[in-house]
Amino acid sequence: MTLFRGTVIDTPDDPFAGGVLRATSDAGLLVRDGVITERGDFADLRARHPEEGVVDLSDGLVLPGFVDTHVHFPQVRAIGGLGLPLLDWLEQVALPEEARLSDVGYAESVAGDFVSGLAQAGTTTALVFGAHFAPAVDALFTEAARVGLRVTSGLVVSDRLLRPELLTTPRRAYDEGKALADRWHGVGRNRYAVIPRFSLSCGDELLNSCSQLLDDVEGGWFTSHINENTREIATVARLFDLSHYLETYDRHDLIGRRSVLAHNVHPTDQELKVIAARDASVSHCPSSNSALGSGLFPLTRHLAYGVRVALGTDVGAGTGFSLLKEALQAYFMQQLLNEQGYQLEPVHLLHLVTTAGADALGMADQVGDLSVGKRFDAQWLKPRAGTTFDVALRNATGPEDALAKAFTLGTTADVERVWVDGEALALS
Ligand SMILES: [Zn+2]
Repeated sequence: MTLFRGTVIDTPDDPFAGGVLRATSDAGLLVRDGVITERGDFADLRARHPEEGVVDLSDGLVLPGFVDTHVHFPQVRAIGGLGLPLLDWLEQVALPEEARLSDVGYAESVAGDFVSGLAQAGTTTALVFGAHFAPAVDALFTEAARVGLRVTSGLVVSDRLLRPELLTTPRRAYDEGKALADRWHGVGRNRYAVIPRFSLSCGDELLNSCSQLLDDVEGGWFTSHINENTREIATVARLFDLSHYLETYDRHDLIGRRSVLAHNVHPTDQELKVIAARDASVSHCPSSNSALGSGLFPLTRHLAYGVRVALGTDVGAGTGFSLLKEALQAYFMQQLLNEQGYQLEPVHLLHLVTTAGADALGMADQVGDLSVGKRFDAQWLKPRAGTTFDVALRNATGPEDALAKAFTLGTTADVERVWVDGEALALS
């Protein structure tokens, strides 16, 4: 067993439902076989367990590991393609890079960059858009397992309107997806997700094969994009002759508790109603929405309809792996919406990048906060002495203020250590 000591901050109670921040200075967390077995005042725990090894994290903050609910494995090297709207950015920046992952050696190298990028950002759990090539998805799962992250991912499929080397057929999509799921779903910390890229690039037959695969992978997940950009939405409406984007997935029974829809910047009320009724989740990706000029996410409307919302970095349209930065951007965008925005406080930001993400991914019973009974998936934020973040943290007036400093000033460079199941990850 190990006794971790530090200032521990988490959000076991949903702040959108009145929950408040839980912060304990000089807390002790006793961890056995990866699970938190006791939590309390450090001195008390130390007195009762004098024989256990202590890991002292007293400087800085101990937070739950972050949960990224939308991030693209093949786009890590495409980060920074600024100045284009969605469909042009895909064609000119993202898809040429995604095509390079047909080379398995290249894909393995990108998998290394990608998984280390997540870990260095304090992200311990992620729902990942995989690649269009099955061997590249193998490379991702292999690397995630080696490093120790909790990854849900799968083959990305499309059968129209993208460059030809990224296209597949309904039959091949099913077969390759099933083989990947057989190899990786439920193996270690990996889980499989069925991933049509978006309805724009997927016809009904392909979406139907996705539905069959989802049926055949027990406990499998579903993720895709929706309502990101007005030109995309208009094209989907024309291709399917439908007025609700969601219907393109829903009529194939792809929307349920294990579905996560990325973006949803421009939903209709009817779509929000159906997403809530299906108990599905939405991944809000504010830096991507800003970079591509997609729009201002209507968080208040999602909450009003009872839709579960978490955050995603959407690398590489997003601007990096840091969910600290992503949460700050979410805050900025709600501010810009003025009276239509939701006044996000530090407790909401932490919730969105931890417990809300765990809930969206059906893992709230295991991770997301640092309660007794949960896995010790955690990170230690420890700014370098003398940096502005360090100065701000030392002068914080309390835990809410310290957390506000972390979201405002913290970067991936301040993530000193990261644990999954109580094991420290090698951050390279
Ligand atoms: Zn995306």
